[in-house]
Amino acid sequence: MLKIRNYINGELIAPISGNYLDNINPSIGKVYSLIPDSDENDVQLATQAALAAFPTWSKTPKEKRSRILQKIAFLIEDNLDKLAEAESIDNGKPLKLAKTVDIPRAASNFNFYATAILHFASESHSMEDTAINYTLREPIGVCGCISPWNLPLYLFSWKIAPALAVGNTVVAKPSEITPMTAYLLSEICMEAGLPKGVLNIVHGLGHKVGAAITSHPDIPVISFTGGTVTGKQIISTAGPMFKKLSLELGGKNPNIIFDDCNFEDALRTTVHSSFANQGQICLCGSRIFVQKGIYEKFKKAFVDKVKDLKIGNPFDENTNIGAVVSQPHLEKVLSYVELAKQEGGKILCGGNRVLLDGKFSEGYYLQPTIIEGLAFNCRTNQEEIFGPVVTIMPFETEEEVLMMANSTKYGLASSVWTENLKKAHRVAANLHVGIVWVNTWLLRDLRTPFGGVKQSGVGREGGFEALHFFTEPKNICIKL
Ligand code: NDP
Repeated sequence: MLKIRNYINGELIAPISGNYLDNINPSIGKVYSLIPDSDENDVQLATQAALAAFPTWSKTPKEKRSRILQKIAFLIEDNLDKLAEAESIDNGKPLKLAKTVDIPRAASNFNFYATAILHFASESHSMEDTAINYTLREPIGVCGCISPWNLPLYLFSWKIAPALAVGNTVVAKPSEITPMTAYLLSEICMEAGLPKGVLNIVHGLGHKVGAAITSHPDIPVISFTGGTVTGKQIISTAGPMFKKLSLELGGKNPNIIFDDCNFEDALRTTVHSSFANQGQICLCGSRIFVQKGIYEKFKKAFVDKVKDLKIGNPFDENTNIGAVVSQPHLEKVLSYVELAKQEGGKILCGGNRVLLDGKFSEGYYLQPTIIEGLAFNCRTNQEEIFGPVVTIMPFETEEEVLMMANSTKYGLASSVWTENLKKAHRVAANLHVGIVWVNTWLLRDLRTPFGGVKQSGVGREGGFEALHFFTEPKNICIKL
């Protein structure tokens, strides 16, 4: 059975303890590889390597750093099939999704920041005849990058690429639930000629490896994507140490559909925004608000379309819904379906585990589920479920839907469907979220700021925002 290894100081090595954890293929519910059960000793080794590599990497000309990162991007593209298959097996997602979204985006992340660094400039401020200020943007040191399991290589590379591009070195931890593509990335980095110690990947559990990174005194920057509860733990450790923090956390995103929308576009995209990646995308629209005039028509068409989605073998080209990521996650999502029933919800479709035949009989499959009849402020409508479960609710006025949409502790993203431009602007301006899509969903330009408000996060990723985060500004004032 394959044993994944840590990538430390340019080498693939076993965890110091010699202990391993099971890595499960969720589509068949069976262990298929082993991952290092690393601890603070491995993090210490990785941090020493990153500290040693920092002086040279941070002074390496940006053109050279750019070329190496571009080579990583090319190698990801060259290995698209292998990486997509690994992602699908590790996570349970349909292979076609990994091939068209996850892996191409990971390559784009490296390519985007490899080229962005060539155009990244700092400011100068003239004080007429008195003085001139100029601002240096310097790499900070060793950055800790911690990512979740839902879009494994996509989100892992979204942090690592900007951190490395500006000249930092990195100690990174992928989710222990989906470590495989991060492991394959270490092989790619070696082939691309990334100098030793510049990127170090330590596999293992959040409360061991993650906590060791967060609390390490020589890691002054933490970029984290994951749940809000974990985010709070990280703040409580890293805050008093005055670390620089970027937190991309949970969401409970509203999808607002007005009477005057383009019905077919809204319907087709809502199927996608509800259930892509089994609903395990932080940006999925999990609360669907439909205006009264089209509520019944939309509901019926939506339920019909969702009933047609094919659940099954993630490697099958026709599969729309693969497995959810793990047995505990499956149980968590099902517990929310039970909660919804207790809260008076009516299950319009789905609601159950799916037991497939043959080799897939122990896989973690769930029916895409639509729930109606819940109050906007009940727990099902306030807490993040992060699975193939959405609620649908009618509304009458703009004011009413804005009140309901803004009622959760989260504020990550939202979709608004209307053909009325003024209304679109008005609603977008009044939503308490970091991202609004009008008449679309998950259309991304990597230059735009990405992140949420309230308990969906602190700070922004994307574009130059990330390059600002991963550098420290220093102003120099020269008297003339
Ligand atoms: P978790 O918060 O459980 O884990 C995220 C990462 O943090 C994992 O690598 C995890 O390791 C690690 N971790 C866990 N505990 C600690 C700790 N005490 N200290 C440091 N690191 C720790 O999230 P999930 O992996 O379950 O991901 C799902 C969540 O991520 C959802 O809430 C989703 O909304 C959010 N998310 C947010 C996005 C955004 O951009 N805003 C994008 C994608 C997801 P381990 O796996 O071993 O537990």
